[in-house]
Amino acid sequence: MSKKLLLEIVTPDRKVLSQDVDYVGAPGALGEFGVLPNHIAFLSALGVGNLYYKNEGKTHYIFVSGGFAEVSPDKVTILAEAAEKAAEIDVERARKAQERAQQRLARTQEKIDNARAQAALRRSLARMNCRNSGEKAGTC
Ligand code: ATP
Repeated sequence: MSKKLLLEIVTPDRKVLSQDVDYVGAPGALGEFGVLPNHIAFLSALGVGNLYYKNEGKTHYIFVSGGFAEVSPDKVTILAEAAEKAAEIDVERARKAQERAQQRLARTQEKIDNARAQAALRRSLARMNCRNSGEKAGTC
């Protein structure tokens, strides 16, 4: 029985993390799920939000946006469309993205842009939330 899980997070651009951890919490498309070592294997689509992992008593936060999680008893692989560790998040950029999205949403007649602006707004808010969580946990 392995006592740790290998957590690997990759995006189309880069490897974001490869780390032995004690626990992973992830934003599944149908809600958050948690994984301890020796979990049964499964696949899940990812939503937008905070992934977090616990290691040596500390909680670390990583923003993820879309993609898939593959869970096996000793490994969690995250293939995300975008992912940043809390410390990598540019808060000013996220704030600007939030402003742009809110301005677009204020123009009510542009229906197709609306869904896109909603998604951009969700990403920007989740990034700021992720950074806050990391700062509160003292891990970024
Ligand atoms: P923006 O409008 O600022 O580009 P976005 O939500 O459209 O935001 P994404 O499409 O999710 O951006 O990501 C594009 C790339 O930019 C990815 O590599 C992502 O990791 C990076 N990225 C986006 N926003 C930030 C941020 N606030 N801090 C750090 N990296 C970011």
